Amino acid sequence: MNRLRQNIRDMAGYIPGFQPPDIASWIKLNTNENPYPPSPRVREAILAELGEDAALLRTYPSASSSLLREAAGRLYGFDPDWIIMANGSDEVLNNLIRACAGEGEEIGYVHPSYSYYATLAEIQGARVRTFGLTDDWRIAGFPGRYDGRLFFLTTPNSPLGGVFSLAYIEELAGRCAGLLVVDEAYADFAGENALELVKRCDNVVVTRTLSKSYALAGMRLGLAIARPAIIAALDKIRDHYNLDRLAQAACLAALEDQDYFRRRCDQVVATRERFSAALRALGFTVPSSGGNFIFATPPDRDGRRLYDDLYRSRILVRHFSDPLLAHGVRISIGTDEEMARTLAVIAGGKHDATA
Ligand SMILES: *Cc1c(COP(=O)(O)O)cnc(C)c1O
Repeated sequence: MNRLRQNIRDMAGYIPGFQPPDIASWIKLNTNENPYPPSPRVREAILAELGEDAALLRTYPSASSSLLREAAGRLYGFDPDWIIMANGSDEVLNNLIRACAGEGEEIGYVHPSYSYYATLAEIQGARVRTFGLTDDWRIAGFPGRYDGRLFFLTTPNSPLGGVFSLAYIEELAGRCAGLLVVDEAYADFAGENALELVKRCDNVVVTRTLSKSYALAGMRLGLAIARPAIIAALDKIRDHYNLDRLAQAACLAALEDQDYFRRRCDQVVATRERFSAALRALGFTVPSSGGNFIFATPPDRDGRRLYDDLYRSRILVRHFSDPLLAHGVRISIGTDEEMARTLAVIAGGKHDATA
């Protein structure tokens, strides 16, 4: 075993949300996937790329993903050299740590947020420092000058759903000596985003994913937007063929069908607001969310019991055993029918404080 690096031997490894093998028989609200299919143009583009005999698969895909970077650049208002495409935003989060933090150097993030940052730091051998949250969505005890190599800010936050204000993110950027990585996996479901800060602040990186808002978790597509010098560094680190041909075809078609995309996002947001209101009417605490999920605390504050009740009805949500989160569950927003079924199970259970 001592042939392995100490940090790899010691680490537990990331545990992704449960994907049941009999997925069709569940209402799956545990990994913030989109309940709707991607744009129909995605299927057409993949079939066109495959052709009759899949002959194109003999040849390597574009190494630079240049068509995608141009399309994303048009969409977000940046030149292509400000954009890097990734095999899921997880890939670019990993490469940001590899680019910035050597062994023993510090990265920071808010807890609770995306726990994969810790796993990536462990692989690299970087040290981790976490900060808590205040009730008004600021970071508790954030220093006047933060000297860590990189700080991850997840906004909208998962699993709680809160959104940091743009003015506050800009203030944080000024206080970070290293990079401020704004993980906007859910920004398409929120009212605002930090893209303008990439232009104003030279240390801000915004990461996005097509997994949630574009309903393409199965294709593994993400991207980062930052100053060209940062993008050039990330470009050296990534696998040179990080996006396969089918993923590139799917990505281009999805980005170019903005009408479909907007319609689906609006649908998810409308369902989120209705579902949140219905849970509050049952006495649940549901903070307002900028994502495609909500964090719901039942009146008896027993998140595990709520998880078990839903599980018995073949509804899968996410419960976190972390003491800061164990009192509730994170519920991804599904279709209206799925949320109605979920609500019926919750209303039939006894989760009031006296039960
Ligand atoms: C889902 C998620 C990711 C990962 O996105 P992929 O593109 O699927 O790798 C990154 N950050 C946050 C906060 C997420 O919720």
